[in-house]
Amino acid sequence: MYKYFFLVACALCSLHADETSPEKSLRFLMEGNARFSTDKSLHPDRTSERRLETSQKQEPFATIVGCSDSRVAPEILFDQGIGDLFIVRVAGNVVGPLELDSIEYSVKYLHSSFILVLGHENCGAVKAAVDGVTDDVENVMKLIEPAVKQSAKMKGDRLENAIKANVQLVVDQLKKTPKLREFLDKKQLNVVGGYYNFHTGKVVLLPEK
Ligand SMILES: [Zn+2]
Repeated sequence: MYKYFFLVACALCSLHADETSPEKSLRFLMEGNARFSTDKSLHPDRTSERRLETSQKQEPFATIVGCSDSRVAPEILFDQGIGDLFIVRVAGNVVGPLELDSIEYSVKYLHSSFILVLGHENCGAVKAAVDGVTDDVENVMKLIEPAVKQSAKMKGDRLENAIKANVQLVVDQLKKTPKLREFLDKKQLNVVGGYYNFHTGKVVLLPEK
């Protein structure tokens, strides 16, 4: 009886790091995004009970490396709540030394099993780099410029190509990081890129290399 109760209770509670594989974490993110994009968000884990439950300990199941853009809030896009996502946000979703420290912390100490690098439609930071208007954001631009160069001759939309190339370069950068490599090799972590479309509300995963 108690065992049955435990199983039912766990089926109702959300997914947390101690019980997640990278595959489960990805599934949980995409299910949340599917709810959001169809106006079926459940707004889970936003109760005072959950706030108190997580007051001493956090176990986010995924880490999102996203843009600071006010329209790209991960908890909303993925329909998650308090303690579910560890989020690093900076204009253009780039990763420098400070961002990397936070990302590594989430994997090593909080046991996040999935890192999603999230670019988005019409990203102002990447657009500034494409247009060469970089005076006020020099430090971020230095990190975005390799993607602009790499995607310059691609067919299709110039900005979208640069945004996706920027995401892919950050994914590659994280996969090569020694401290993350250790978890990737043991299949305790995966790093994937995604692109968020304002019009559909959907996050589309970029192909894994
Ligand atoms: Zn942006």
